[in-house]
This record gives sequence, structure tokens and C-alpha cells, in this order.
Amino acid sequence: RAVTTTESTQPSRRIILFPLPVQGHLGPMLQLASILHTQGFKITIIHPETNPPNYSNYPHFTFKPVFDRFSEIKNHMPEKPDPSFFITYLNENCADSLTDCLAGLLAEPDEPPVACLITDAEYYIAQEVADSLKVPRVVFWACNIVSLLVYGDFSFFHQKGYFNLTVKDLEYEATVPRYPLLKIKDVIKTTRNPNGMGQYLSKVVKQAKKSSGIIWNSFKEQPEEAAAILEDTLNHHFPIPRFTLGPLQKYMPSLTSGILFEQDRTFFSWLDAQAPRSVIYVSFGSMGCITKKEFQEVSYGLANMAFPFLWVVREGSVEGSEWLESLPNEFLDEVGVRGRIVKWCPQKEVLAHEAIGCFWTHSGWNSTLESICEGVPMICSPCDVGQPIIARYVSDVWKIGILLEDGFEREGIERAVTRLMRDKEGEEIRERINVLRDEVKISFDDECGSSHRSLKTLVDYILSFP
Ligand code: UDP
Repeated sequence: RAVTTTESTQPSRRIILFPLPVQGHLGPMLQLASILHTQGFKITIIHPETNPPNYSNYPHFTFKPVFDRFSEIKNHMPEKPDPSFFITYLNENCADSLTDCLAGLLAEPDEPPVACLITDAEYYIAQEVADSLKVPRVVFWACNIVSLLVYGDFSFFHQKGYFNLTVKDLEYEATVPRYPLLKIKDVIKTTRNPNGMGQYLSKVVKQAKKSSGIIWNSFKEQPEEAAAILEDTLNHHFPIPRFTLGPLQKYMPSLTSGILFEQDRTFFSWLDAQAPRSVIYVSFGSMGCITKKEFQEVSYGLANMAFPFLWVVREGSVEGSEWLESLPNEFLDEVGVRGRIVKWCPQKEVLAHEAIGCFWTHSGWNSTLESICEGVPMICSPCDVGQPIIARYVSDVWKIGILLEDGFEREGIERAVTRLMRDKEGEEIRERINVLRDEVKISFDDECGSSHRSLKTLVDYILSFP
């Protein structure tokens, strides 16, 4: 059920949000903004000029673009930028425009007073800006909770020498001392550049700790023992108010949040004609890139199986290719018969379709939450950042999917699909994800459910700011 609107005639307070302009962060933050709007707050969104949200989807919000200096480096971007390049650049170049914009908003005479600034946690620079203007900053963490803790421990992992380990080392497969549900290889896979990424993430974590609170887009942690350990660790590392408020898309399911790509819908008539739970849905998110070799392995993996498939291939998501040029011809013939390839689709709607049997995903956090909400078992091919951690939870902790430990390699893909779509193991995985889906649903349906309580606590907390 959707959240109840408590909008009164005039909002008494205003919240300013500053989301990161990438799909997996912008979408949930605009959802958060919409939820807070239903709770009676006036919403202003500050955003970098690059990748602006579609204003027309949010007629009740005020939008303020800030200069991000991307135009200055557009033509000489590094060829293979580190994942932290984009966001570090934003942090280093947005601070002045953010300060000016925020100061202007605070001085507006006829507007309700600003209660707080909510920024993506990855804008580490925003803490100093908020402090300088004496506005409370609450951070939004767009990935799972454990990933933030792991990032906070990067220097510890460095000291332990984890990032020098290779597959040949025994320790590579061992569990992580502070996080026994994870393997050391999961931590190593979070970054190919532990120095650059490590420095950047330590700034993110350090500034998040100084904030007035943290909002997670997550559900109540599972299982109970793991939740208790996590709570202790959080109390130790983040002794600030924390709100587990998700999955955000459940509050307002019909909201088309922050879409930065054009959606293809032409395949729905084909999807409607497929048998229930027969289709493999394949998507590796909005940002990641795979090599030509990996791309071809995916295609062989799909071709060698008897199942229909829907595959999202974003333009530019295969290194050195525009789109599908590197696919073998025999596979392209197969596509017409058994599958569909699209550049972007309405993923939540696809996952809710009864024809979908499993989701082969890069284990992005939003994709994982969306799959859980629809009870669709996953095959996980994580790339980097939080994805290897999420994939470990999906496969070993919640046991709602299968992790492709050996990367993109056709035999492994076929084995995983068979286990999930044909074997008894797949049935058990489906049962477990359905139980989790129902638990998440209850937390929204029930007024006393954890999500409703968290939202109420967050609203009261924001209203308590002077
Ligand atoms: N998505 C979509 N259509 C697609 C592929 C992805 O709408 O064809 C959405 C998906 O529903 C999710 C987001 O893009 O909300 C991807 O976020 P995620 O955290 O899973 O991964 P990221 O792109 O940040 O790596």
C-alpha cells in the first residue's frame, strides 16, 4: 500500500536534497523526496548540470541546477576512468556552486524554513558546506549497509595485505575477520584501484560519520544473528541516528523515478506470449562495462540454454563497441527466435511480469531490491564496488540466488541457469526469496511494520531540527 499523504494546506518546513546524477542513486533519492513530500515537506532538489532529472515528472518540486565543470573536461576524459573519477570530480568542483545555491535558498524570504539538507553520502564535500551554513546534513546511502562498513575498513584491509592477494593464495577464499559472512575475495573485488578508491571512500565514510543521520534504502536486516552483529558494528562505527527505510520503490510503486534513459516497451507483446517463469532477464545495470570476450560468453551461455531471454545491452556497455557488433552472427539469428535484446527497459515492470523466471544481474543494490520485491531468484555476476558484497549476501546469506564465482564463462553460466531453472535447488531458492518478499511486504502493509515506523521516526527527527 502507498504511504498516506499528510500534506496540509501549506508545508511548514522545506527539505533540500542533493542526489548523485546516476540512475541507481538518483532514482531512489527522488523516491525519498516524493515520500517526504507526502509527509508535508516542501521539496527542493539541487542537482549537478550533468544528467539532470526530468523536471516534468515532479511538478511539486523546485529544481536548482549547479555548475559542475564537466563541460570543461568533456573532450579529454581519461580513457578508462576509475569508478571514483566521476564522483571525485563532482566533489572537487561542485563545492562553491553548492554553497552559493544553498545560501541563496536559505535566504529566500517567502519560503518555509529549511529543516535539513539530505545529500547522497558520496558527496563528502557537502558536510563542510552544510556546516559552514549551519544546516543539518543527513546522508543517504544508496547501497547495502554492509558495503559502507566494509568501505570504512579499507585501511584495515590494506594493513592486512588483502589487496596484494591473488586467486592462488589460500587466504583469498577465507572469510573476513570482522565480517565473517564475507570472503576476502569479495573485499578485493570491490575495487581494482584500492589506493584511489580507498582514499575517496575514506572521505565518504569520515564525512558521513559527522552528519546528523543516515538513511539506508534497505529492509530490516536478515537473518536475526547477522542483524544483531551488524547493529553492534553500526553502533560502534556510526553512533548517529540511523533510518532503515526501504525498499523505497515500495512506498510509491507507480512513480517513474529519475529515469535517465529512454525505455523500450516494444518487447512486451513478446513477453506476454512466453510461458510463466520461463524467461531469463539479463541486465548489468546502468553504469558497468564488460569486455567483448565476456559479452560473447554471455551470448553463448544464453544460446546454449533452451530458455527464452530478455537482455538489456546499453549502448557503450561493451568495451570498444557501440552496441551489438561483437556478437556472433549465429547468436543474432537465435535472438529473433528465442529472445529479445533492448537498450533499456522498465525493469521493475519486467521483474513483476509472470513470464520472468530468473534475473541474471550485476548485483547492483536497486536491482537486487527490485528482484526481492518481486520474488525473482537471481544469478549474480558482480563487477565491483558494493556488488561483490551484495552478491555474497544473495548467494550465501539470504540464499536467494546463485553467484557465478568464475565470472562470465559459458559453462558456469549454463550450470547456474540449470540449477536455478530446472533443479530442486532452484525451487528452494524461489521459496526463500518469496518468503523474504512477503516479509518485506508486511513491513509496508502493516501500520506497525518496520518501514512505517522508520518513516515516522525520520519525519519526527527532521521536524525536531531547530
Ligand atoms: N534499470 C532500468 N532498466 C534497465 C536496466 C536498469 O530501469 O533496462 C534500473 C533498475 O531498475 C535499477 C537501476 O536501473 O533501479 C540500476 O541500479 P542498480 O543499483 O541496480 O545498479 P547501477 O546501475 O547503479 O550499477
